[in-house]
Amino acid sequence: MINAVDIAIVGAGHGGAQVAIMLRQQKFEGTIALIGDEPEFPYERPPLSKEYFAGDKPFERIMIRPEKFWAERDVKMMLGRHVSAIDADAHQLRFSDGETLGYGSLIWAGGGTPRMLNCPGHELEGIHAVRTRADTDAMMAKLDGIERVAIIGGGYIGLEAAAVLTKLGKSVVLLEALDRVLARVAGAELSEFYEAEHRAHGVDLRTGAVVTAISGADGKASGVVLDTGENIAADMVIVGIGIEPAVAPLITAGAEGEGGVLVDAQCRTTLADIYAIGDCAVHPNPFADGDTIRLESVQNANDQATVAAKTILGQDVSYDAVPWFWSNQYDLKLQTVGLSIGHDETIVRGNPADRSFSVIYLKAGRVIALDCVNATKDYVQGRKLIIGQCSPDPEKLADTTILLKELVD
Ligand code: FAD
Repeated sequence: MINAVDIAIVGAGHGGAQVAIMLRQQKFEGTIALIGDEPEFPYERPPLSKEYFAGDKPFERIMIRPEKFWAERDVKMMLGRHVSAIDADAHQLRFSDGETLGYGSLIWAGGGTPRMLNCPGHELEGIHAVRTRADTDAMMAKLDGIERVAIIGGGYIGLEAAAVLTKLGKSVVLLEALDRVLARVAGAELSEFYEAEHRAHGVDLRTGAVVTAISGADGKASGVVLDTGENIAADMVIVGIGIEPAVAPLITAGAEGEGGVLVDAQCRTTLADIYAIGDCAVHPNPFADGDTIRLESVQNANDQATVAAKTILGQDVSYDAVPWFWSNQYDLKLQTVGLSIGHDETIVRGNPADRSFSVIYLKAGRVIALDCVNATKDYVQGRKLIIGQCSPDPEKLADTTILLKELVD
Protein backbone atom coordinates (compact mmCIF):
# COMPACT_ATOMS: atom_id res chain seq x y z
CA MET A 1 0.00 0.00 0.00
CA ILE A 2 1.20 3.54 -0.73
CA ASN A 3 0.33 6.52 1.42
CA ALA A 4 1.48 9.38 -0.79
CA VAL A 5 2.09 10.17 -4.45
CA ASP A 6 3.58 13.15 -6.26
CA ILE A 7 0.48 13.62 -8.39
CA ALA A 8 -2.98 12.31 -7.60
CA ILE A 9 -5.62 12.48 -10.33
CA VAL A 10 -9.22 12.03 -9.22
CA GLY A 11 -11.52 10.83 -12.00
CA ALA A 12 -10.33 8.20 -14.49
CA GLY A 13 -12.42 9.45 -17.41
CA HIS A 14 -11.33 11.48 -20.43
CA GLY A 15 -9.58 14.31 -18.62
CA GLY A 16 -7.98 12.22 -15.87
CA ALA A 17 -6.56 9.69 -18.31
CA GLN A 18 -5.17 12.45 -20.51
CA VAL A 19 -3.37 14.11 -17.60
CA ALA A 20 -1.51 10.89 -16.82
CA ILE A 21 -0.71 10.32 -20.52
CA MET A 22 0.58 13.86 -20.90
CA LEU A 23 2.69 13.79 -17.72
CA ARG A 24 4.52 10.69 -18.94
CA GLN A 25 4.82 12.09 -22.48
CA GLN A 26 6.49 15.12 -20.92
CA LYS A 27 8.94 12.75 -19.19
CA PHE A 28 7.60 13.30 -15.67
CA GLU A 29 9.26 10.60 -13.57
CA GLY A 30 7.47 11.01 -10.25
CA THR A 31 4.68 8.86 -8.87
CA ILE A 32 1.16 9.20 -10.34
CA ALA A 33 -2.09 7.72 -9.03
CA LEU A 34 -5.16 7.71 -11.27
CA ILE A 35 -8.21 7.25 -9.05
CA GLY A 36 -11.70 6.54 -10.34
CA ASP A 37 -14.91 5.29 -8.78
CA GLU A 38 -15.96 3.28 -11.84
CA PRO A 39 -14.46 -0.23 -12.00
CA GLU A 40 -13.27 0.04 -15.62
CA PHE A 41 -9.98 1.26 -16.98
CA PRO A 42 -10.47 4.64 -18.71
CA TYR A 43 -12.85 4.47 -21.66
CA GLU A 44 -14.49 6.87 -24.11
CA ARG A 45 -17.87 8.15 -23.04
CA PRO A 46 -19.33 9.42 -26.38
CA PRO A 47 -19.95 5.89 -27.79
CA LEU A 48 -22.23 5.14 -24.81
CA SER A 49 -25.08 6.83 -26.67
CA LYS A 50 -23.80 5.90 -30.13
CA GLU A 51 -21.81 2.88 -31.44
CA TYR A 52 -21.47 1.05 -28.13
CA PHE A 53 -25.17 1.42 -27.35
CA ALA A 54 -26.02 0.25 -30.86
CA GLY A 55 -23.86 -2.85 -30.35
CA ASP A 56 -21.57 -1.78 -33.21
CA LYS A 57 -18.41 -1.40 -31.08
CA PRO A 58 -17.35 -3.70 -28.25
CA PHE A 59 -16.01 -2.27 -25.01
CA GLU A 60 -12.38 -3.09 -25.88
CA ARG A 61 -12.60 -0.70 -28.81
CA ILE A 62 -13.71 2.24 -26.70
CA MET A 63 -10.94 2.00 -24.13
CA ILE A 64 -8.76 5.13 -24.11
CA ARG A 65 -5.63 2.96 -23.90
CA PRO A 66 -5.20 -0.82 -23.61
CA GLU A 67 -5.05 -2.03 -20.00
CA LYS A 68 -1.33 -2.77 -20.10
CA PHE A 69 -0.51 0.82 -21.11
CA TRP A 70 -1.02 2.08 -17.56
CA ALA A 71 1.32 -0.45 -15.98
CA GLU A 72 3.92 0.16 -18.68
CA ARG A 73 3.82 3.90 -17.88
CA ASP A 74 3.94 3.19 -14.16
CA VAL A 75 0.60 4.89 -13.46
CA LYS A 76 -0.92 3.47 -10.30
CA MET A 77 -4.55 2.70 -11.10
CA MET A 78 -6.88 2.97 -8.11
CA LEU A 79 -10.19 1.92 -9.66
CA GLY A 80 -13.51 1.41 -7.93
CA ARG A 81 -12.34 3.93 -5.32
CA HIS A 82 -14.41 7.00 -4.41
CA VAL A 83 -12.74 10.10 -2.96
CA SER A 84 -15.04 11.58 -0.35
CA ALA A 85 -12.97 14.38 1.20
CA ILE A 86 -9.90 16.53 0.72
CA ASP A 87 -7.72 18.14 3.36
CA ALA A 88 -6.15 20.89 1.28
CA ASP A 89 -3.76 22.10 4.02
CA ALA A 90 -2.47 18.62 4.74
CA HIS A 91 -2.38 17.75 1.01
CA GLN A 92 -4.31 14.59 1.68
CA LEU A 93 -7.40 12.99 0.24
CA ARG A 94 -9.73 10.55 1.92
CA PHE A 95 -11.53 7.63 0.32
CA SER A 96 -15.03 6.61 1.25
CA ASP A 97 -13.60 3.52 3.02
CA GLY A 98 -11.63 5.84 5.33
CA GLU A 99 -8.20 5.29 3.79
CA THR A 100 -6.10 8.34 2.99
CA LEU A 101 -3.56 9.29 0.35
CA GLY A 102 -1.14 12.22 0.46
CA TYR A 103 -0.34 14.17 -2.71
CA GLY A 104 2.03 16.84 -3.95
CA SER A 105 -0.39 18.10 -6.61
CA LEU A 106 -4.00 17.08 -7.06
CA ILE A 107 -5.90 17.21 -10.35
CA TRP A 108 -9.65 16.90 -10.02
CA ALA A 109 -11.32 15.46 -13.14
CA GLY A 110 -14.57 14.24 -11.60
CA GLY A 111 -16.91 15.03 -14.49
CA GLY A 112 -20.53 15.04 -13.40
CA THR A 113 -23.42 12.92 -12.29
CA PRO A 114 -26.59 12.82 -14.39
CA ARG A 115 -29.37 15.07 -13.23
CA MET A 116 -32.40 12.88 -12.55
CA LEU A 117 -36.09 13.54 -12.16
CA ASN A 118 -37.60 14.54 -8.83
CA CYS A 119 -41.25 14.21 -9.81
CA PRO A 120 -43.56 11.53 -8.38
CA GLY A 121 -42.47 8.11 -9.58
CA HIS A 122 -38.83 9.12 -10.02
CA GLU A 123 -37.70 6.19 -7.89
CA LEU A 124 -39.34 3.50 -10.01
CA GLU A 125 -37.25 0.80 -11.64
CA GLY A 126 -36.68 1.15 -15.39
CA ILE A 127 -35.60 4.81 -15.39
CA HIS A 128 -32.13 5.13 -16.89
CA ALA A 129 -29.39 7.72 -17.14
CA VAL A 130 -26.66 7.61 -19.81
CA ARG A 131 -23.32 8.50 -18.29
CA THR A 132 -21.33 5.36 -17.55
CA ARG A 133 -20.71 2.00 -19.14
CA ALA A 134 -22.85 0.48 -16.39
CA ASP A 135 -25.73 2.79 -17.38
CA THR A 136 -25.60 1.74 -21.02
CA ASP A 137 -25.11 -1.93 -20.17
CA ALA A 138 -28.19 -1.79 -17.95
CA MET A 139 -30.27 -0.49 -20.85
CA MET A 140 -28.80 -2.92 -23.36
CA ALA A 141 -29.57 -5.86 -21.10
CA LYS A 142 -33.26 -4.99 -21.25
CA LEU A 143 -33.65 -4.08 -24.91
CA ASP A 144 -34.65 -7.52 -26.15
CA GLY A 145 -37.75 -7.62 -24.00
CA ILE A 146 -39.12 -4.14 -24.66
CA GLU A 147 -41.00 -2.23 -27.33
CA ARG A 148 -41.66 1.34 -26.23
CA VAL A 149 -39.06 3.80 -24.94
CA ALA A 150 -39.71 7.31 -23.64
CA ILE A 151 -36.73 9.64 -23.69
CA ILE A 152 -36.90 12.74 -21.53
CA GLY A 153 -34.66 15.54 -22.81
CA GLY A 154 -33.92 16.72 -26.34
CA GLY A 155 -30.20 17.40 -25.94
CA TYR A 156 -27.50 15.53 -27.83
CA ILE A 157 -27.59 12.45 -25.59
CA GLY A 158 -31.37 12.06 -25.84
CA LEU A 159 -31.34 12.55 -29.60
CA GLU A 160 -28.48 10.11 -30.12
CA ALA A 161 -30.23 7.50 -27.98
CA ALA A 162 -33.41 8.05 -30.02
CA ALA A 163 -31.49 7.44 -33.27
CA VAL A 164 -29.97 4.18 -31.96
CA LEU A 165 -33.24 2.86 -30.54
CA THR A 166 -35.16 3.66 -33.70
CA LYS A 167 -32.55 1.79 -35.72
CA LEU A 168 -33.02 -1.15 -33.36
CA GLY A 169 -36.72 -1.14 -34.18
CA LYS A 170 -38.05 0.32 -30.93
CA SER A 171 -40.95 2.69 -30.76
CA VAL A 172 -39.53 5.96 -29.38
CA VAL A 173 -41.19 9.03 -27.87
CA LEU A 174 -38.87 11.95 -27.20
CA LEU A 175 -40.09 14.62 -24.81
CA GLU A 176 -38.51 18.07 -24.65
CA ALA A 177 -39.87 20.66 -22.23
CA LEU A 178 -38.64 23.69 -24.18
CA ASP A 179 -40.08 24.75 -27.52
CA ARG A 180 -37.27 23.15 -29.52
CA VAL A 181 -34.59 20.46 -29.14
CA LEU A 182 -30.94 21.47 -28.64
CA ALA A 183 -32.19 24.87 -27.44
CA ARG A 184 -29.29 25.39 -25.04
CA VAL A 185 -26.54 24.62 -27.51
CA ALA A 186 -27.61 25.46 -31.05
CA GLY A 187 -29.62 27.85 -33.20
CA ALA A 188 -33.22 27.32 -34.25
CA GLU A 189 -32.22 26.23 -37.78
CA LEU A 190 -30.31 23.23 -36.44
CA SER A 191 -33.09 22.33 -34.00
CA GLU A 192 -35.66 22.39 -36.75
CA PHE A 193 -33.53 20.19 -38.98
CA TYR A 194 -32.98 17.53 -36.30
CA GLU A 195 -36.62 17.56 -35.24
CA ALA A 196 -37.65 16.86 -38.85
CA GLU A 197 -35.03 14.10 -39.23
CA HIS A 198 -36.14 12.29 -36.09
CA ARG A 199 -39.78 12.51 -37.08
CA ALA A 200 -38.94 11.21 -40.55
CA HIS A 201 -37.28 8.22 -38.86
CA GLY A 202 -40.42 7.51 -36.88
CA VAL A 203 -39.65 9.18 -33.54
CA ASP A 204 -42.68 10.70 -31.87
CA LEU A 205 -40.83 13.91 -30.99
CA ARG A 206 -42.71 16.40 -28.86
CA THR A 207 -41.55 19.83 -27.80
CA GLY A 208 -43.16 21.85 -25.01
CA ALA A 209 -43.78 18.51 -23.34
CA VAL A 210 -43.55 18.94 -19.59
CA VAL A 211 -43.21 15.75 -17.55
CA THR A 212 -45.02 15.81 -14.22
CA ALA A 213 -44.75 12.18 -13.10
CA ILE A 214 -43.63 8.69 -13.99
CA SER A 215 -46.43 6.18 -13.76
CA GLY A 216 -45.69 2.65 -12.63
CA ALA A 217 -46.89 -0.82 -11.90
CA ASP A 218 -45.27 -3.33 -9.51
CA GLY A 219 -42.46 -0.89 -8.73
CA LYS A 220 -41.57 -0.52 -12.41
CA ALA A 221 -41.95 2.50 -14.66
CA SER A 222 -44.77 1.98 -17.13
CA GLY A 223 -45.28 5.44 -18.54
CA VAL A 224 -44.60 9.16 -18.50
CA VAL A 225 -47.28 11.61 -17.42
CA LEU A 226 -47.37 15.07 -19.01
CA ASP A 227 -48.79 18.28 -17.58
CA THR A 228 -51.71 17.86 -20.00
CA GLY A 229 -52.64 14.70 -18.08
CA GLU A 230 -51.64 12.42 -20.94
CA ASN A 231 -49.96 9.19 -19.87
CA ILE A 232 -47.52 7.94 -22.49
CA ALA A 233 -46.97 4.21 -22.07
CA ALA A 234 -43.31 3.15 -21.95
CA ASP A 235 -41.39 -0.01 -21.03
CA MET A 236 -38.22 2.00 -20.46
CA VAL A 237 -37.60 5.64 -19.58
CA ILE A 238 -34.31 7.36 -20.44
CA VAL A 239 -33.45 10.67 -18.80
CA GLY A 240 -31.03 12.99 -20.57
CA ILE A 241 -31.44 16.36 -18.85
CA GLY A 242 -27.83 17.30 -18.11
CA ILE A 243 -25.35 16.76 -15.31
CA GLU A 244 -24.45 18.12 -11.93
CA PRO A 245 -20.69 18.72 -11.75
CA ALA A 246 -19.08 16.24 -9.31
CA VAL A 247 -17.18 18.69 -7.12
CA ALA A 248 -18.60 18.29 -3.61
CA PRO A 249 -15.32 17.30 -1.88
CA LEU A 250 -13.52 20.26 -3.46
CA ILE A 251 -16.17 22.80 -2.50
CA THR A 252 -16.34 21.39 1.03
CA ALA A 253 -12.56 21.77 1.23
CA GLY A 254 -12.98 25.48 0.48
CA ALA A 255 -12.53 25.78 -3.30
CA GLU A 256 -14.49 28.58 -4.92
CA GLY A 257 -17.11 27.79 -7.52
CA GLU A 258 -20.79 27.76 -8.30
CA GLY A 259 -22.21 25.14 -10.62
CA GLY A 260 -18.75 23.60 -10.80
CA VAL A 261 -15.32 24.56 -9.48
CA LEU A 262 -13.65 27.78 -10.52
CA VAL A 263 -10.26 27.58 -12.23
CA ASP A 264 -7.96 30.07 -13.92
CA ALA A 265 -6.41 29.83 -17.39
CA GLN A 266 -3.87 27.33 -16.00
CA CYS A 267 -6.66 25.16 -14.53
CA ARG A 268 -5.68 26.08 -10.95
CA THR A 269 -8.48 26.12 -8.39
CA THR A 270 -8.38 28.61 -5.54
CA LEU A 271 -6.79 25.93 -3.32
CA ALA A 272 -3.02 25.50 -3.33
CA ASP A 273 -1.70 22.73 -5.61
CA ILE A 274 -5.21 21.66 -6.65
CA TYR A 275 -6.24 21.83 -10.30
CA ALA A 276 -9.55 20.98 -11.95
CA ILE A 277 -10.33 20.09 -15.55
CA GLY A 278 -13.07 18.89 -17.85
CA ASP A 279 -16.82 18.88 -17.33
CA CYS A 280 -16.58 20.13 -13.74
CA ALA A 281 -14.28 23.13 -14.36
CA VAL A 282 -15.71 26.63 -14.63
CA HIS A 283 -13.01 28.41 -16.60
CA PRO A 284 -12.38 31.67 -18.46
CA ASN A 285 -12.76 30.87 -22.15
CA PRO A 286 -11.35 33.17 -24.85
CA PHE A 287 -14.04 31.92 -27.25
CA ALA A 288 -16.74 33.15 -24.85
CA ASP A 289 -15.09 36.60 -24.84
CA GLY A 290 -13.29 35.67 -21.62
CA ASP A 291 -16.46 34.81 -19.69
CA THR A 292 -16.24 31.91 -17.26
CA ILE A 293 -18.12 28.89 -18.54
CA ARG A 294 -18.26 25.13 -18.16
CA LEU A 295 -17.93 22.96 -21.26
CA GLU A 296 -18.90 19.32 -21.61
CA SER A 297 -16.77 17.93 -24.41
CA VAL A 298 -13.90 15.57 -25.00
CA GLN A 299 -11.92 18.42 -26.56
CA ASN A 300 -12.24 20.53 -23.43
CA ALA A 301 -11.31 17.67 -21.08
CA ASN A 302 -8.25 16.69 -23.13
CA ASP A 303 -6.98 20.21 -23.76
CA GLN A 304 -7.40 21.27 -20.14
CA ALA A 305 -5.61 18.07 -19.10
CA THR A 306 -2.66 19.14 -21.21
CA VAL A 307 -2.64 22.63 -19.70
CA ALA A 308 -2.82 21.32 -16.12
CA ALA A 309 -0.07 18.74 -16.68
CA LYS A 310 2.26 21.26 -18.30
CA THR A 311 1.58 23.88 -15.63
CA ILE A 312 2.50 21.41 -12.91
CA LEU A 313 5.72 20.72 -14.80
CA GLY A 314 6.55 24.44 -14.75
CA GLN A 315 5.72 25.24 -18.37
CA ASP A 316 4.16 28.59 -19.29
CA VAL A 317 0.81 27.65 -20.90
CA SER A 318 -2.76 28.93 -20.91
CA TYR A 319 -6.01 27.33 -21.94
CA ASP A 320 -6.99 28.87 -25.25
CA ALA A 321 -8.04 25.91 -27.42
CA VAL A 322 -10.83 26.31 -29.98
CA PRO A 323 -13.89 24.40 -28.70
CA TRP A 324 -15.17 21.58 -30.91
CA PHE A 325 -17.72 18.83 -30.57
CA TRP A 326 -19.47 16.19 -32.65
CA SER A 327 -22.68 14.20 -32.64
CA ASN A 328 -23.72 11.22 -34.77
CA GLN A 329 -27.40 10.57 -35.42
CA TYR A 330 -28.56 8.22 -38.21
CA ASP A 331 -26.24 8.93 -41.16
CA LEU A 332 -25.75 12.53 -40.04
CA LYS A 333 -22.39 13.67 -38.76
CA LEU A 334 -22.60 16.98 -36.95
CA GLN A 335 -19.35 18.81 -36.27
CA THR A 336 -19.39 21.97 -34.21
CA VAL A 337 -16.56 24.44 -33.81
CA GLY A 338 -16.43 27.60 -31.70
CA LEU A 339 -19.07 28.69 -29.21
CA SER A 340 -22.37 30.12 -30.41
CA ILE A 341 -23.17 31.73 -27.02
CA GLY A 342 -24.23 35.34 -27.52
CA HIS A 343 -24.65 35.16 -31.30
CA ASP A 344 -26.86 37.82 -32.86
CA GLU A 345 -27.10 36.49 -36.41
CA THR A 346 -27.19 33.09 -38.10
CA ILE A 347 -26.49 32.22 -41.69
CA VAL A 348 -27.49 28.95 -43.29
CA ARG A 349 -24.92 27.81 -45.81
CA GLY A 350 -26.31 25.16 -48.15
CA ASN A 351 -29.73 23.58 -48.14
CA PRO A 352 -30.83 21.49 -45.13
CA ALA A 353 -33.03 19.49 -47.52
CA ASP A 354 -29.80 18.16 -49.09
CA ARG A 355 -28.78 16.87 -45.61
CA SER A 356 -25.45 18.65 -45.99
CA PHE A 357 -25.26 22.25 -44.75
CA SER A 358 -23.80 24.53 -42.10
CA VAL A 359 -25.22 27.06 -39.69
CA ILE A 360 -22.79 29.92 -39.18
CA TYR A 361 -23.11 32.03 -36.03
CA LEU A 362 -22.06 35.68 -36.01
CA LYS A 363 -21.66 38.18 -33.20
CA ALA A 364 -21.43 41.81 -34.28
CA GLY A 365 -20.51 40.55 -37.74
CA ARG A 366 -17.69 38.26 -36.51
CA VAL A 367 -17.84 34.50 -37.10
CA ILE A 368 -17.92 32.83 -33.66
CA ALA A 369 -19.14 29.29 -34.37
CA LEU A 370 -20.31 26.79 -36.98
CA ASP A 371 -22.57 23.76 -36.81
CA CYS A 372 -21.74 21.63 -39.84
CA VAL A 373 -23.99 18.73 -40.83
CA ASN A 374 -22.31 16.32 -43.25
CA ALA A 375 -20.12 19.28 -44.22
CA THR A 376 -16.60 18.54 -43.01
CA LYS A 377 -15.00 20.98 -45.42
CA ASP A 378 -16.93 23.87 -43.84
CA TYR A 379 -15.98 22.63 -40.39
CA VAL A 380 -12.26 22.56 -41.19
CA GLN A 381 -12.21 25.85 -43.06
CA GLY A 382 -14.69 27.64 -40.78
CA ARG A 383 -12.39 27.04 -37.85
CA LYS A 384 -9.92 29.43 -39.48
CA LEU A 385 -12.58 32.13 -39.69
CA ILE A 386 -13.16 31.78 -35.95
CA ILE A 387 -9.50 31.83 -34.98
CA GLY A 388 -8.87 34.76 -37.31
CA GLN A 389 -11.85 36.65 -35.82
CA CYS A 390 -13.01 37.28 -39.39
CA SER A 391 -16.08 39.30 -40.35
CA PRO A 392 -16.81 38.30 -43.96
CA ASP A 393 -19.71 39.55 -46.03
CA PRO A 394 -22.72 37.44 -44.90
CA GLU A 395 -23.81 36.93 -48.50
CA LYS A 396 -20.47 35.35 -49.29
CA LEU A 397 -20.69 33.11 -46.23
CA ALA A 398 -24.00 31.79 -47.53
CA ASP A 399 -22.66 31.24 -51.06
CA THR A 400 -21.59 27.62 -51.41
CA THR A 401 -19.70 28.38 -54.61
CA ILE A 402 -17.21 30.26 -52.44
CA LEU A 403 -14.99 28.17 -50.15
CA LEU A 404 -14.90 29.41 -46.55
CA LYS A 405 -11.10 29.48 -46.64
CA GLU A 406 -11.32 32.14 -49.34
CA LEU A 407 -13.01 34.39 -46.78
CA VAL A 408 -10.22 34.26 -44.21
CA ASP A 409 -8.52 37.65 -44.05
P1 FAD B 1 -15.63 12.02 -17.16
O1 FAD B 1 -15.14 11.45 -18.45
O2 FAD B 1 -17.06 11.92 -16.86
O3 FAD B 1 -14.81 11.32 -15.99
C1 FAD B 1 -15.05 11.60 -14.64
C2 FAD B 1 -14.79 10.37 -13.82
O4 FAD B 1 -14.59 10.75 -12.46
C3 FAD B 1 -15.96 9.40 -13.81
O5 FAD B 1 -15.52 8.10 -14.02
C4 FAD B 1 -16.53 9.57 -12.41
O6 FAD B 1 -17.21 8.41 -11.96
C5 FAD B 1 -15.26 9.85 -11.63
N1 FAD B 1 -15.46 10.49 -10.32
C6 FAD B 1 -16.28 11.53 -10.04
N2 FAD B 1 -16.20 11.86 -8.73
C7 FAD B 1 -15.30 11.00 -8.19
C8 FAD B 1 -14.80 10.83 -6.87
N3 FAD B 1 -15.19 11.62 -5.86
N4 FAD B 1 -13.91 9.83 -6.64
C9 FAD B 1 -13.49 9.02 -7.66
N5 FAD B 1 -13.93 9.14 -8.93
C10 FAD B 1 -14.83 10.13 -9.19
N6 FAD B 1 -18.39 14.87 -25.87
C11 FAD B 1 -18.00 15.15 -27.15
O7 FAD B 1 -17.08 15.96 -27.33
N7 FAD B 1 -18.61 14.55 -28.21
C12 FAD B 1 -19.61 13.65 -28.05
O8 FAD B 1 -20.14 13.13 -29.02
C13 FAD B 1 -20.03 13.32 -26.72
N8 FAD B 1 -20.99 12.39 -26.49
C14 FAD B 1 -21.29 12.02 -25.22
C15 FAD B 1 -22.21 11.01 -25.01
C16 FAD B 1 -22.51 10.60 -23.70
C17 FAD B 1 -23.48 9.48 -23.49
C18 FAD B 1 -21.91 11.23 -22.61
C19 FAD B 1 -22.23 10.83 -21.20
C20 FAD B 1 -21.00 12.26 -22.80
C21 FAD B 1 -20.68 12.66 -24.11
N9 FAD B 1 -19.76 13.67 -24.36
C22 FAD B 1 -19.38 13.97 -25.64
C23 FAD B 1 -19.17 14.44 -23.24
C24 FAD B 1 -17.82 13.89 -22.85
O9 FAD B 1 -17.88 12.49 -22.70
C25 FAD B 1 -17.39 14.54 -21.55
O10 FAD B 1 -17.27 15.92 -21.79
C26 FAD B 1 -16.07 14.00 -21.03
O11 FAD B 1 -16.20 12.66 -20.66
C27 FAD B 1 -15.60 14.82 -19.84
O12 FAD B 1 -14.44 14.26 -19.30
P2 FAD B 1 -14.13 14.41 -17.73
O13 FAD B 1 -12.79 13.83 -17.53
O14 FAD B 1 -14.39 15.81 -17.32
O15 FAD B 1 -15.26 13.55 -17.03
